[in-house]
Amino acid sequence: MSTTTPIIGDWRRHAERLTLDGRAFIDGGYADALSGATLEARTPLTGERIADLAACDEADVDVAVAAARRAFEHGAWSRAAPAERKRVLLRLAELVRDHRDELAATITLDAGRPITAARGEVDGAADTFQFYAEAIDKVLDEVAPTQPTALALVTREPIGVVAAVVPWNFPIGMATWKLAPALAAGNSVIVKPAEQASLVLTRLAALMHEAGVPAGVQQVLPGRGEDAGQALGRHHDVDAVAFTGSTEVGKLFLIYAGQSNMKSVSLECGGKSPNIVLADAGDLDRVARFAALGAFVNQGEMCSSGSRLVVEEAIRDELVERVVAHSAAWQVGDPFDPATTSGALIDETQMDRVLDYVAVGRTAGARLVAGGERVAPESGGYYVAPTVFDDVDNGMRIAQEEIFGPVLSVIPARDADDAVRIANDTMYGLAAAVWTRDVTTAHRVSRAVRAGTVWVNTYNQANLAVPFGGYKQSGFGRDKSLHALEKYTQLKTTWLNLEV
Ligand code: NAP
Ligand code: MG
Repeated sequence: MSTTTPIIGDWRRHAERLTLDGRAFIDGGYADALSGATLEARTPLTGERIADLAACDEADVDVAVAAARRAFEHGAWSRAAPAERKRVLLRLAELVRDHRDELAATITLDAGRPITAARGEVDGAADTFQFYAEAIDKVLDEVAPTQPTALALVTREPIGVVAAVVPWNFPIGMATWKLAPALAAGNSVIVKPAEQASLVLTRLAALMHEAGVPAGVQQVLPGRGEDAGQALGRHHDVDAVAFTGSTEVGKLFLIYAGQSNMKSVSLECGGKSPNIVLADAGDLDRVARFAALGAFVNQGEMCSSGSRLVVEEAIRDELVERVVAHSAAWQVGDPFDPATTSGALIDETQMDRVLDYVAVGRTAGARLVAGGERVAPESGGYYVAPTVFDDVDNGMRIAQEEIFGPVLSVIPARDADDAVRIANDTMYGLAAAVWTRDVTTAHRVSRAVRAGTVWVNTYNQANLAVPFGGYKQSGFGRDKSLHALEKYTQLKTTWLNLEV
């Protein structure tokens, strides 16, 4: 494992040497789609084709689900001692670390994430496998306090065949938040990567295999959402779907479940998270730095992006000035440069969408105070400058719709109550933050905001031990923490009569 950071040219050479295999991984080996159809994987750094992906559809899903079910019934994984699954997943964590640079370069090339961030994402994936590996042989079941003549056991059993349908913004991270707890709990898991960022997951499949996850227990099926994704959602022998992606597609999985076998569904969907800054926030330069971080990290392609900066009038001008200064400090450009903090948007469609929203904001009367345009178009890459709109009304489309790009809307508020009202005036409820020096205000506001995570005097702080997920139309069910195991297990009650 390399511990030094290679310079940009080294990373480029590294990327050129990658073997990118976009085939599906089904029942212990790589396979083309049964139809022979492929999709093109393109890099957002230049728009060029870098590999072909198997375009899996219903027929491939049928084969994978059958293999997953066979493996589950066989029991080599599902009924293995938790300590045995722990050993395999710990090996996997080490393998992921050993392959960190290769996996990170794949993410950067395929999805445009800055290499430094991509390496961090791969480390996070390894840590996630390790977290659930270490946890799974320490989670105890329950004995209920029944009458003395009975014994009631409450045990957690794996659900069976789990489909994980994931987005492109954290190509390995979002998948491992699901794979790790689902595998640790003993399920068979089928991953459907996003079309724009499948290659790190088709590669991960081989590492899972090498670590000792049995054939059929983990499978990765690239393909179109409407084909492979829908077929998993509608399959009668898939027991659970764990989805991360847009609210629109999340709702489809509820329909698929209702029209098929009532499979359990958990949804991690979009957000339009409010970052509330009250007049007593204190060090406004620190607040501004975090406001920019909240909005621009990962090019704004972040479900928990703090895309609405709700600011008490008294400090608005000073804060906006400082946010604009901090937004200029983001280095946008070549993601293989280790100093780059803002890489390429995922594809041309997404870039055009973001630039359209800039036009929508201007037309609605919001005041553009930073960014708003494409950067380095001559490279062919899809770069957009960190963008700040001031004078945004919360009713405007740029304040209500998830842009999924580096666009921050500053929305003025009269006082704390007005800020809470504005914060909650959204269909989403993924995350929020409040900045105040007053401990009572901090508690009052964090209780009043309807969101799955509320940060006080910080933004985007994270730890594997805490759950992550949304209120309202940001979804339900939680990734991370021991609570994630709830999605991948079901409770069984077993009564024993002790009367003779
Ligand atoms: P998306 O378009 O909803 O796609 C997510 C996944 O669903 C992809 O694998 C996609 O496949 C598949 N899919 C698309 N249409 C489908 C259909 N009709 N039936 C079944 N599956 C279908 O989301 P995205 O654009 O990849 O990612 C961005 C979204 O993810 C944002 O809304 C963001 O907020 C959300 N997100 C949420 C969290 C969270 O934790 N709450 C974290 C990260 C991202 P294709 O690739 O083939 O379209
Ligand atoms: Mg791509």
